[in-house]
Amino acid sequence: MRDFGIGSWTARRARKTPHKTAVLDPGGRFTYAELHERVHRLAHALRGLGVRRGDRVAYLGPNHHAFLETLFASGVLGAVFVPLNTRLAEPELRHCLDDSGAAVLVRDPGLPAPPVPRAVAVGPEYEDLIASAPSDPIDEAVGLDDPCIIMYTSGTTGRPKGALLTHGNLTWNAFNVLVDIDLASDETTLCTAPLFHTAGLNMTCLPTLLKGGTVVLEPSFDPERTLKLVRSLRVTYMFGVPVMFAAIARSAAWAGADLSSLRRVSCGGAPVPPATIAAYLERGVVFSQGYGMTEASPGVLFLTGEDSARKAGTAGVPHFFTDVGIVDADARPVAPGARGEVVIHGPNVMREYWRRPEDTAAAFADGWFRTGDIASADADGFVSILDRAKDVFISGGENVSPAEVEAALGAHPAVADCAVIGVPDPTWGEVGRAVVVAAGPVEAPELLAFLRGRLAGYKIPKSVVFTAELPRSPTGKIIRRALREEHR
Ligand code: ATP
Ligand code: MG
Repeated sequence: MRDFGIGSWTARRARKTPHKTAVLDPGGRFTYAELHERVHRLAHALRGLGVRRGDRVAYLGPNHHAFLETLFASGVLGAVFVPLNTRLAEPELRHCLDDSGAAVLVRDPGLPAPPVPRAVAVGPEYEDLIASAPSDPIDEAVGLDDPCIIMYTSGTTGRPKGALLTHGNLTWNAFNVLVDIDLASDETTLCTAPLFHTAGLNMTCLPTLLKGGTVVLEPSFDPERTLKLVRSLRVTYMFGVPVMFAAIARSAAWAGADLSSLRRVSCGGAPVPPATIAAYLERGVVFSQGYGMTEASPGVLFLTGEDSARKAGTAGVPHFFTDVGIVDADARPVAPGARGEVVIHGPNVMREYWRRPEDTAAAFADGWFRTGDIASADADGFVSILDRAKDVFISGGENVSPAEVEAALGAHPAVADCAVIGVPDPTWGEVGRAVVVAAGPVEAPELLAFLRGRLAGYKIPKSVVFTAELPRSPTGKIIRRALREEHR
């Protein structure tokens, strides 16, 4: 092996733990030696399709061993892997394929996909390619500074942008995870969160494979099935977004579930409701949580299980190899307790957005990546994520933070879900509007009266609109952009 890229991992594991199970999914069980051989055969096959160093190889499909094999095979060749979100509509997929300029698309044949010059269907076609390719290992020098993945952001605030992550970015993130989550070599990690999202791949699969544990890939998320797998496979670790953990704790199987194998779970990607954390702590499950973003591969802040009760509501302190600042508009650090923008720096942070020099230039200041998230830190350095700068609106010259108003409104028993946005107002510039999913019979005046005394007057919405459902991303983030358009 001539360098240390992700593509070399299967060879490195195969020489240490060839007979251990690396990947288990409904399509098979593969040891590290088998995974290694399949990855190098696939790399030969991709080369045969014309893939060269720097070319992009896209993947569209649910969690499956072919996803990981295509990632590693691309890494072996120095090609750039482009995972696509299976929930995207056809024009959105088209955008990601055109934007990345993918030469080959490996895809689940059951999913509709736009035409590309060369597509490989997972199943018999993919297996034939592997079986007929040479098995001798490929030894390209692919190093930590070489590009590894273009991963598209979730598109919560605008069109998804391709974050170009290097082999080094992913490796350092895996080190951060191993320092803070303490994964062991006998880990059985359940991957139900989609691998095409940065946390699904990098908080779970990659660190587990680095240590020589087993990853269990599930093509879709189902709360009852998750609990069944935890028991039958003696799962020791899983990662999920808050909506997943909430759904598991609400499921009928929760009360009788055997959780004894779980050493800990971790959660992130959106604010975690305290009730969700409490449900797991009550069952004796160590519940850690984190804050991150695609551009940081993704880990930035982490709250370990030991601190999860004492510092509940915070996202913890920075990962070992990542530095975090909270700064004012002039990029000066703010005092403990004061609000500011989160800026980050570390070997896990991307250097650029793919082919978007202006977005890249706007995202960095003095080498620090500007996250666009608003936060404050307590005297011990524990950071609370308060809002996204893009969602904050100004009413009569005062900043209003939707997340703060939503938390207050969400405390009313008749509110099942809510979102607050700023809408134009001739007197105040903008005023708040609450969009509410009611849990029972309730009228607007009652909700507004409930907020008086709890919030300053300028923060209290001037109108309430009831709706059946809020627009949420698959990771559970409210898409306020969509609401703002609807209520313009
Ligand atoms: P886009 O950048 O395209 O608008 P996105 O920012 O939602 O989409 P991701 O990279 O998937 O795309 O998400 C990162 C964002 O998710 C963070 O910037 C932050 O706003 C939010 N987030 C992540 N973890 C947490 C957390 N623990 N608490 C609150 N917010 C979180
Ligand atoms: Mg973002």
